[in-house]
Amino acid sequence: MEERPFNDTSYEQFLKEKRVMGSKCKNCGALSLPPRPICISCFGKKMEWVEFKGTGSLAAFSSIVVAPPYMAKEGFNRNNPYLVGVVELEEGAKTVARITGFDAKKPELIKVGTPLKAEFLEKGEGPERRYLLAFKA
Ligand SMILES: [Zn+2]
Repeated sequence: MEERPFNDTSYEQFLKEKRVMGSKCKNCGALSLPPRPICISCFGKKMEWVEFKGTGSLAAFSSIVVAPPYMAKEGFNRNNPYLVGVVELEEGAKTVARITGFDAKKPELIKVGTPLKAEFLEKGEGPERRYLLAFKA
């Protein structure tokens, strides 16, 4: 299986390859996305990589009107909010991610339970290039 360390760099490298990779605890089986070197459930340190299908459903969300600087750079602000949500993955784990495919200005129309699919975002140029996981309705 994959020998990459369980950290953000490996995670982002997988996203660049358009793979949703998390960690699975060899002791208790708990899944984590993004991957963690220590189990969030039993604090075990024996982890293995697991590939998620990238499908799930919306469990909770927020419409963000006050954007942090890196999001403001993308044009998000009070008049152009964006969504962040908790996604319940098909495999059972939960993750927090950008949510796309909805109108963030009309959060009242967004339904919890809506099926979502992984979307691979690429931001910035050159050495600033980042690979992010989002979920799209
Ligand atoms: Zn564990």
